[in-house]
Amino acid sequence: MQLAFSSSREATDSLLLEQGDFAGRRYSLKIRICQSPVCQCEHVALYCVPETREPPQPQPPVPIFLEMDLAQRAIANLEKLKADPTAFTVAKAVESEISEAEWTKLRNLYFAVKQHATEQADPDQLDAHFPLKSWPATAA
Ligand SMILES: [Zn+2]
Repeated sequence: MQLAFSSSREATDSLLLEQGDFAGRRYSLKIRICQSPVCQCEHVALYCVPETREPPQPQPPVPIFLEMDLAQRAIANLEKLKADPTAFTVAKAVESEISEAEWTKLRNLYFAVKQHATEQADPDQLDAHFPLKSWPATAA
């Protein structure tokens, strides 16, 4: 399995499966990480949209949602995915193919987002009980 993260906004991130029945299947990824600077969930949400080359598709492809647990190095929502055989099969393939290096990539991404969120957070707003800044200057 290969994860490819793109640094440019135009190109999409992608996931490529390399083994078994799914070898060669590629998914474009939408990655969601919670933006709270104080949350330590260590979860990365991956929305995997199957890339299809054969046009036209009767229906748009349904994204497969994988909730990656960085602490456990497991797919947190695997049980729920059993309801959808296709999604479950893909999830099992990801689980068996994902390597240490790919987990590390996800982890680095997670910490980069958290770092960014921390830098963006206004410490006054995180801990303020009064809207001091909105007081008229003359009140001081
Ligand atoms: Zn979180």
